[in-house]
Amino acid sequence: MRTSLIAGNWKMNGSLQSVNELIDGLRAGDFGQAELAVCPPAVFLFKVGGMLDGSAIALGAQNVCNQEAGAYTGEVSAAMLREAGCRYAIVGHSERRSLYGETDRLVAERFAMAVSGGLRPILCLGETLQEREQGVTEQVVASQLDAVVDHSGIDSFTDAVIAYEPVWAIGTGQVATPEQAQAVHAFIRARLAQRDAQIANAIRILYGGSMNPGNAAELLAQADIDGGLIGGASLKANDFLAIAQAVN
Ligand code: PEP
Repeated sequence: MRTSLIAGNWKMNGSLQSVNELIDGLRAGDFGQAELAVCPPAVFLFKVGGMLDGSAIALGAQNVCNQEAGAYTGEVSAAMLREAGCRYAIVGHSERRSLYGETDRLVAERFAMAVSGGLRPILCLGETLQEREQGVTEQVVASQLDAVVDHSGIDSFTDAVIAYEPVWAIGTGQVATPEQAQAVHAFIRARLAQRDAQIANAIRILYGGSMNPGNAAELLAQADIDGGLIGGASLKANDFLAIAQAVN
């Protein structure tokens, strides 16, 4: 039985004031059976970590450095994220891949560092619209996934989470149909099962891409969709909570 995870990726949004309002709203709300996590910008992690003290809401980072410490200007290490109270770290988000040139190799190294540093990586995979139209969705997702499995080994996925995020659905309002999403989720699980059936069965595979309170229930009802990675809708406490309540 996989506990659904609803994780909010705030991206580069928020201010001290909006962070206060959002966390107060989440703490006061009901998120049902789901596990809830928020991934604020790095500069807000300590503050949000403090505000979440004593709550069941988990804290996550939006990235993690592929090195332990040293001369890596602008990066944040796994140890620092742990000190801030993080349980999760997103790695390989498509915005990091496309806007900041993160390669499969770098994503694999960041994933490895998250695991060795005691964080649970949320590994993002997904195809562009052009790749979907060319019929190569499975090849793209497989090569992104294999790069990490080959680098770190299948055992490193024991506490990991995967997020299938079709790039064409992120921030566009154009959501994948439940059938489209389920097909890729099942493909990812089957590919992991070729390495280790138990890990494949236990791992949570989240859907990300324009999920909102109106479409969440149908997506979350799919057999291999174990939660969501939510961008825009995670910035409003009521919308984020409504998505969490759509689990089951
Ligand atoms: C994301 O950035 O991971 C995401 C899913 O964004 P949105 O929900 O806004 O499409």
